Amino acid sequence: MIQKRELFSSLVSSFIGKKQESFNPRPPYFDDEESFLVNCQNCDGKCATSCEENIIIIKEDMTPVLDFLQGGCTYCDKCAQACEFDVLDLKYKKNINTKITIDVLKCLSWEKTMCFSCKEQCMDDAIIYLGLFRPEIDMAKCTSCGFCVGVCPTNAIEVKKWQ
Ligand code: SF4
Ligand code: SF4
Ligand code: SF4
Repeated sequence: MIQKRELFSSLVSSFIGKKQESFNPRPPYFDDEESFLVNCQNCDGKCATSCEENIIIIKEDMTPVLDFLQGGCTYCDKCAQACEFDVLDLKYKKNINTKITIDVLKCLSWEKTMCFSCKEQCMDDAIIYLGLFRPEIDMAKCTSCGFCVGVCPTNAIEVKKWQ
């Protein structure tokens, strides 16, 4: 008889297509995109090493972005405090520049398989269920922290740049 875990795995693999190409936002403390390209070249990535969540990666162009597949941002300020080149600064603190949404075509719940993985991670109670099976993100509450992204078994949480 098929085990519950095997059933879940087969459902998940049938939903996962190509790994989602995610937008990687900047840490939430910058003013000017240009300053990354100019000033980060002379730095050894102190923002990344100071991040206790280990979600800052330094790209090939030497500038930092957030990788929500590794975790989320607590807005702890450590990266801004570590930046010696004034690229990241506490005075520019704001919500991360992303729109987080659920792709209902990939989401297990929307396909009637009970799943609360994203909701369990959301400290801001921004994921609401319409009935039992239809999760949606409440934009008024979502801080774009990203904690729901990497835990979704079908990569159904989308990270897009705010236009
Ligand atoms: S605010 Fe804190 S958790 Fe967020 S990216 Fe910066 S160091 Fe990491
Ligand atoms: S600490 Fe500042 S200057 Fe260094 S990589 Fe990070 S943002 Fe750029
Ligand atoms: S990105 Fe939004 S919905 Fe996801 S865990 Fe953070 S606050 Fe909740």
